[in-house]
Amino acid sequence: MSGVAIVTGGTRGIGKAISARLKGDGYTVAAIYGGNDEAAKACADELGIAVYRCDVSDPEGCAETVSRIEAEHGPVAVLVNNAGITRDGMFHKMSADQWRAVLSTNLDSAFNMTRPVIDGMRERGFGRIVSISSINGQKGQLGQVNYSAAKAGLIGFTRALAMETARKGITVNAIAPGYVETDMTSQMKPEVLQSIVAGIPVGRMGKPEEIAHAVSYLVSEHAGFVTGAVLTANGGQYV
Ligand code: NAD
Repeated sequence: MSGVAIVTGGTRGIGKAISARLKGDGYTVAAIYGGNDEAAKACADELGIAVYRCDVSDPEGCAETVSRIEAEHGPVAVLVNNAGITRDGMFHKMSADQWRAVLSTNLDSAFNMTRPVIDGMRERGFGRIVSISSINGQKGQLGQVNYSAAKAGLIGFTRALAMETARKGITVNAIAPGYVETDMTSQMKPEVLQSIVAGIPVGRMGKPEEIAHAVSYLVSEHAGFVTGAVLTANGGQYV
């Protein structure tokens, strides 16, 4: 496949693996990042992709970044809403800022990024949108009321938008990963991780590349009949 693929949070962790895989599939990849400029540039050089600093929780910034990407590389065929953060804490101690940060980065971001690409996809009669939800958006997780709500929101976003775009050649899907080895999970306490792995039927955490393969399938021509789906990739955990 060819065309432009935007991957938010595409310079690190699962997003970096998605950028690498889509680049390998033949796309021109534009990765959006929110963190360190040097690390993002190193990733751009390593993978041969373009990188753009943009805060995905800022609607105007997202619209401007999409315009820049389209001006520099052409129309967007694929959007992967992957950027996300956690700000864990028990609900009775959770601040409004903790709630808002997680909802705006994980859920508002899908609106902020998808809204500027959808008109072009509708006009061209082709588009692929994939959002990275989470097992914790399917089943809920202690200490993550904010994150679980945002990731469950992405599933509703996916199902409803899939219906609106189904006759326009645009598919909208979500992936719900279980625990994957990245910076996000390396911050967890070793004893917590050990007990999590004990509950995963395949007996290990996932690898970023395993999520990237699923994205590669969902954005391919072969997945034209797959829309509004939530693909679980969690090592066999029951949800
Ligand atoms: P990570 O922390 O390694 O990477 C997150 C990326 O998002 C980074 O590149 C960061 O720069 C970017 N980002 C964060 N806030 C941003 C903002 N405001 N604007 C632009 N970019 C921003 O995380 P990861 O583990 O690779 O997770 C990727 C996605 O997968 C997230 O949505 C996460 O919730 C989801 N997920 C991860 C796991 C896991 O076990 N790692 C499991 C389920 C779902």
